[in-house]
Amino acid sequence: MLILEAEDLAKRFGNVQAVDGISLRVGQGEIAGLLGPNGAGKSTTLHMLLGLITPDSGTVRMFGLDLARHRTEVLSQVNFSASYLGLPGVLHVREVLDAFARLYGLRRPRERVGEIIDLLEIGPLARRKVIELSSGQHTRVQLAKALINEPRLLILDEPTAALDPDAGDRIRGLLVRVARETGTALLITSHNMREVERMCDRIHFVSAGRIIAQGTATELADDFGVDD
Ligand code: ADP
Ligand code: ADP
Repeated sequence: MLILEAEDLAKRFGNVQAVDGISLRVGQGEIAGLLGPNGAGKSTTLHMLLGLITPDSGTVRMFGLDLARHRTEVLSQVNFSASYLGLPGVLHVREVLDAFARLYGLRRPRERVGEIIDLLEIGPLARRKVIELSSGQHTRVQLAKALINEPRLLILDEPTAALDPDAGDRIRGLLVRVARETGTALLITSHNMREVERMCDRIHFVSAGRIIAQGTATELADDFGVDD
């Protein structure tokens, strides 16, 4: 089942062709990476997938539905997280998750908060204030918040870029486990090959608004001579 099919997306800002014909496919439970330097067009691509900006041309289909025509239904099954979004610091972790469970109108909010705390292994943090968390712990709580409504696709902008290497490795391991256990598809942007090669099933190299290569980490290492 294809979760995401983007076909020939393009977006221009003034004289800058930010995205110049990007096509992407992501399957259920798959972890896909968009890898490229700053200015390559990754964020603009994400913003089109999230319905935040309208492409000049091209189409986005998710779960078999056209985003432009079924916007509410499609976007209710997609979530987004990025470290720069932050969380309300004065609340306890459980209060944050309770609040989002209510915002999403979940049918059994209390049970769902318990499940997501178990899934992300943040039980020991439930009564801590957000402001007291380490950055790795904060990332876990952000992921809990983004997964609480059981999205079929979770889009993550540079999820481990701000973490030290060990905390980054733990978050990558967690993301792989969550994708495998829940079937949630992940689309992850990064400017760091090492970050994506450890967790992505498929990596797309983005440069100057185009995908210039794609494949598994092993295939790309063979093609480009990238080694560990
Ligand atoms: P990345 O996320 O890979 O760093 P972006 O998608 O943010 O790349 O940017 C791609 C190009 O589009 C860059 O040259 C950037 O300056 C330009 N750009 C992005 N958003 C805007 C905007 N709102 N207005 C003008 N130029 C933009
Ligand atoms: P950081 O490294 O920034 O503290 P992590 O994401 O590594 O953040 O850890 C977040 C939480 O995950 C910890 O507070 C703890 O509950 C749990 N955790 C992480 N690593 C371990 C471990 N090796 N053994 C037990 N629990 C762990």
